[in-house]
Amino acid sequence: MLNEDQEYRLLERFLHYTTYDTQSKLGAKVSPSSQGQVKLAKHLQQELVALGLEEIEVSKNAVVTAFLPSNTDPSSPTIGLIAHLDTATECSSKNVQAEVIENYRGGDIALGMGEEFISPAHYHFLHQLVGKTLIVADGNTLLGADNKAGIAEIMTALSILKENNLPHCNIRVAFTPDEEIGLGMQFFPLENFSCDWAYTIDGGEVGELEYENFNAASAIVTIEGVNIHTGSAKNKMINALSLACEFQQGLPADETPEKTEGKQGFYHLSRFSGDIERVELHYLIRDFEQEKFLQRKAFIRQLVNEFNMKKSLKKPVCVEITDSYKNMNEIVKTVPKSVELADKAMQICGIQPIHKAIRGGTDGAWLAEKGLACPNIFTGGYNFHSKHELITLEGMKSAVKVITTIAALALQ
Ligand SMILES: [Zn+2]
Repeated sequence: MLNEDQEYRLLERFLHYTTYDTQSKLGAKVSPSSQGQVKLAKHLQQELVALGLEEIEVSKNAVVTAFLPSNTDPSSPTIGLIAHLDTATECSSKNVQAEVIENYRGGDIALGMGEEFISPAHYHFLHQLVGKTLIVADGNTLLGADNKAGIAEIMTALSILKENNLPHCNIRVAFTPDEEIGLGMQFFPLENFSCDWAYTIDGGEVGELEYENFNAASAIVTIEGVNIHTGSAKNKMINALSLACEFQQGLPADETPEKTEGKQGFYHLSRFSGDIERVELHYLIRDFEQEKFLQRKAFIRQLVNEFNMKKSLKKPVCVEITDSYKNMNEIVKTVPKSVELADKAMQICGIQPIHKAIRGGTDGAWLAEKGLACPNIFTGGYNFHSKHELITLEGMKSAVKVITTIAALALQ
């Protein structure tokens, strides 16, 4: 479906986007957290103008939005397509030197002139990529396929729909900042983004379709002790550090991130800080099922109560639990078409859908919380957040085809 020229422009677009340093900055209070994101947002604005989209806006927080009305039926559903401008905090995105490897022969791939290389011995998926066109960075930075591939795929899909005058539903697009630090969506102009449902184009290997994520909360358990000289501490000292260790032993030892996978939930002790007088234990609580999630929160509260009864401390242990995000499936299942059309589009494109549950949160989870169903579709990339990040041109083409096919299917 993509001719040579469209394929060339898909690649050119992606390579151009990787030249913007859009790494988001941890601990930022304002969004966008880096100027590179503003520059990329402005560039995308120009591209959308050239493509002839409507209602193009770049907000002061660098959220880019635009509208492509249906060329067939103005009363057709409106779908949203979303990708993020920023790249991960773990790895620099400055001066990215992307390299295109045509017809990958298999075996190790040396990155740039340095000592970094990518080997099928570590990454078994490389065996399946023989013969494909791979794009990698030079070993000094990440590539930025997460999520600039998503942006390039959306842009290319829009241009193909326009140029070939292919029948499509109403489409809204949004390119958002600071996804990697969970800051961007706070400034998302949802009121200007009325959609029946949306997709983030932010997944990994070809076929990935994700619409379930954790229900998430954090808990802070505070334990207060009494300090006194060790020489005269007998029956007087209350060591909050020892109490905290004991409290931690009350949690199920095999329900931790390092011992769970798939749809299993966990308690994660993420921070243990303090001294004899006061300790804070920070936990992440995660579960896919709402019922079990509530049980986990209740379990922590019960553990605190039992601990207080057993110890009869002067200052009881307290716990503060804060919800972080919800499983988007609660909303997605009320709009089953969002998943059905993505599934069907992949099958039409000869792709076997891979349904996966996200062991984390996404911008889609935030949108679901606001009532917008937003499953996540693959970009065709691997090893996100790493210097070993890579993507195939074939995977990117598949994503473009899936997007244009969804836009056509939504008319039915
Ligand atoms: Zn991403």
